[in-house]
Amino acid sequence: MTPHSSQSPPLVGVLALQGDVREHLAALRASGVDAVAVRRPEELDRCDALVLPGGESTTIAKLARIFELVEPIRARIAAGMPVFGTCAGMILLADRIEDGVVGQETFGGLDITVRRNAFGRQVDSFEGPVHVRGIAEPVHGVFIRAPWVEEIGPDVEVLARVSSSGGAGAAAVPGEAGAEASRIVAVRQGRVIATSFHPEVGDDHRVHDLFVDLVRRDLGRTSADRT
Ligand code: GLN
Repeated sequence: MTPHSSQSPPLVGVLALQGDVREHLAALRASGVDAVAVRRPEELDRCDALVLPGGESTTIAKLARIFELVEPIRARIAAGMPVFGTCAGMILLADRIEDGVVGQETFGGLDITVRRNAFGRQVDSFEGPVHVRGIAEPVHGVFIRAPWVEEIGPDVEVLARVSSSGGAGAAAVPGEAGAEASRIVAVRQGRVIATSFHPEVGDDHRVHDLFVDLVRRDLGRTSADRT
């Protein structure tokens, strides 16, 4: 079932327990969809897709448990709802975490092992161009205490890598650097996309456009299936 009318633009929720919710709402609207903050299961039910923002994954996970959103979000992901996680959101989508806190929960859905705060103290935060598969020109990647993807399962597609030393020279073209010198920072598995960086920061919404395309295709497929 598609919760939203097929006549109107897709409705994309942003999990609004903690983190940079406003930036995602603005980026999604700029990409041409309706966007709404999600704090309760009833709000999730109305959404065609969900964004998990950057912030602090341990806090978001704890609040999601308190707000009784963990099982509903897991169920929607399992049912094929498109989801896009950035930074903390990537951690929340990972099936496995390295350097998490004891008992840290995730929604899961991405067959990856993610390493929290992976780029280390010296390069806590850095920015640089990132080549993302499916986007012609590099996007400006903003990394803030970012995770990287340590391991991927067979169904996971790598969308972007950067040099593991971070810093201003973080740019790396997929496949150009050696595997040990470059780290996976964007992935896709079916309808789930995640980035280590924050495409919601700034005016460049091409990564959101990529996700919105996926949402629109998913809705087209779903309505075609129903007729
Ligand atoms: N280090 C944070 C975490 O573990 C993520 C940082 C971010 O989202 N900018 O959740």
